Amino acid sequence: MKIVDVTAELIETIWTFQEKGRCTVDNVKNEHEGDPGYIVDDEIIAELERKGLAKIDGVEITLTDEGRAQARPIIRRHRLAERLLTDVLGLSFEEMEESACEYEHTLAPGLTEAICTLLGHPRECPHGSPIPEGDCCKRTEDSVKTFVKALDACDVGDEIRISFIRKADPILISKLVSFGVSPGKTIKIRQKFPAYVIQMEHTQIALEEDIAAGIYGMKI
Ligand SMILES: [Zn+2]
Ligand SMILES: [Zn+2]
Repeated sequence: MKIVDVTAELIETIWTFQEKGRCTVDNVKNEHEGDPGYIVDDEIIAELERKGLAKIDGVEITLTDEGRAQARPIIRRHRLAERLLTDVLGLSFEEMEESACEYEHTLAPGLTEAICTLLGHPRECPHGSPIPEGDCCKRTEDSVKTFVKALDACDVGDEIRISFIRKADPILISKLVSFGVSPGKTIKIRQKFPAYVIQMEHTQIALEEDIAAGIYGMKI
């Protein structure tokens, strides 16, 4: 038996499409076509409007303020779960999707904050989509430092297990990954001045300071 909160699934879908531009009723239907265990048709979509969560205008559907307020924590849990699964547990993109969908419904608020803090309040999921801020992200950064910190806040000699790379530039990230600098890998900081030098096994890599500042990890 599988119980699906269809409303939650639908407002999540609308949020995601709206983020990329706009959402149509067909987008919603196509997105959920063939999902096992539940049916998305005009009737169930119209139900969102009756509940005051969305507004249908011609072919387009948009979330109301109430719809956004309800979708926001679901999106946040989903994307934080993605970060946790890829960065800390080292799952592949394919493996993580199903689990992330489970977590988005089951993570308790306190646990969500703990995971967010553990990961250093990441702003983006592994796909590059923004993670809505939680209360924990607005509080002082102090509590973060004990868990994950940026390389520029670490000391020479520290061994760091990389948690995530916070850099918007995909070319830079793929470059780092091609050198083997990716989440889950362990590096050692050899030098911080005049340039950052990190060591991975027998390879040493020199990095500019702003790049080092975007690499986050946990000291081991
Ligand atoms: Zn994602
Ligand atoms: Zn946070």
